[in-house]
Amino acid sequence: MAELNCLIRDLSSVRSSDRFHSAEALGELGDKGAVEPLIKLLGDEDLSVREGAAWALGELRDARAVQPLINVLGDENSVVQRIAAEALGKLGDVQAVEPLFKALGDADLSVRESATRALSMLGDAQAVKLLPKSLRGEPPVVSQNAARTFSRLLRPAKANQWAATLAGGAAFSLRLRAGTYLVGESHAITWNFLSSCLEVLFSVPSLAYSGILWIVFALPGWLWVQRRQQTVPGIGGWLALGWGFMVEALYGLILRWTLGTTVFLTLAMIPVWISLLIGIYLGLACWPKARQRVNGFRCRDDFHRFVPGPRLGWMVRWSGRWFWREKDAPKSMADSCVCRACGKNNRYEGVKEVVAVLDNHGGYYPQQRNAVLRVNWLENKLPFDFDRVEVVDATDTEVEQFHRQMKYQADPQIQKRLPKMQCVVNAQCRFERENTMTLLRQTFGAVERQ
Ligand SMILES: [Zn+2]
Repeated sequence: MAELNCLIRDLSSVRSSDRFHSAEALGELGDKGAVEPLIKLLGDEDLSVREGAAWALGELRDARAVQPLINVLGDENSVVQRIAAEALGKLGDVQAVEPLFKALGDADLSVRESATRALSMLGDAQAVKLLPKSLRGEPPVVSQNAARTFSRLLRPAKANQWAATLAGGAAFSLRLRAGTYLVGESHAITWNFLSSCLEVLFSVPSLAYSGILWIVFALPGWLWVQRRQQTVPGIGGWLALGWGFMVEALYGLILRWTLGTTVFLTLAMIPVWISLLIGIYLGLACWPKARQRVNGFRCRDDFHRFVPGPRLGWMVRWSGRWFWREKDAPKSMADSCVCRACGKNNRYEGVKEVVAVLDNHGGYYPQQRNAVLRVNWLENKLPFDFDRVEVVDATDTEVEQFHRQMKYQADPQIQKRLPKMQCVVNAQCRFERENTMTLLRQTFGAVERQ
């Protein structure tokens, strides 16, 4: 206690060196009784005394010193300003955040540096939002402190919060470093290691390399490849895909999306764009052609139309098999289509019209001539996809059966076409009942005798 009083008395000494040493000693002593006398000394005429007092107040960490120290941030001497800023950091009072931000605009580099360090100690959420804006064009000594600040302030915060901070328009290197700090620890060793890794990972050659990976692995085999007569996922394709996404995601995470990075990534992805365009072109060119051929397919067993089989997914059709192959890939996409009724591939080809014939004369059926397939309904009495009806020779009962099947058993696709369908009744076909012709007229759009 005697020592304290002695030192406090020395603060009023006429010799400035005495005042300075006393202030320093009081800071080291750590007794809060010295706070008020030290605050008085902040206005001392001697530079070194003001320095010593500001430093000592920082060591004492007493809230009474906050406002006086804030006032000293406006001191004429930059060394005093700097020490005051750091002392405010040690005091940890958020009142100091605003004044410290003002100090970031100081003409003196060391003051700005100390201010960033002090802000990092304060750990105020406000600092997170404001810091990046004040750092444009700063030298590394300031920006590295800022990055450490980010790291300390944001570590407990949510990822999107730091992403928002990083979007603040600070220099590329700063954002990269801030990101690195956040990802790892703020230790220099970790930082050096991580930053080297990141710089290599996101360099232009690395992106070019990933582009080459896409071309070499992804394009020829892409996602499905033939191996021992089985179709399996193409590992190269998936690897390349995963690599691409990883690079994209990390890149976007660290840099945030700006116009520059968007343009850069778009360019880096050129191989992907090219392969996508080829896929779309092939899809647009191949599938309509195949579709046209498929329209001429009819099942040999049940005379139904063909539809895309389970292996011919929309990805295959859309990309013309460039991105995605159907299993056991047959030679054309049309060959991957199947009968819509039985799911088999046994077929007539080049059929333009299917005629359902009711013929008891026992002619040769089914019969394909000039793209017209004639099928005798009376042989199986089952519904199928026909485009026209011809009654060559049939009894009233058979016509009625046919009518009832069309009305009650035919699937919706056939039923839908019936009202527009043409039905021709052979002139030699004589019905015994009056209403047989009426039944036909009820079923089909146009009925005529020939
Ligand atoms: Zn079939």
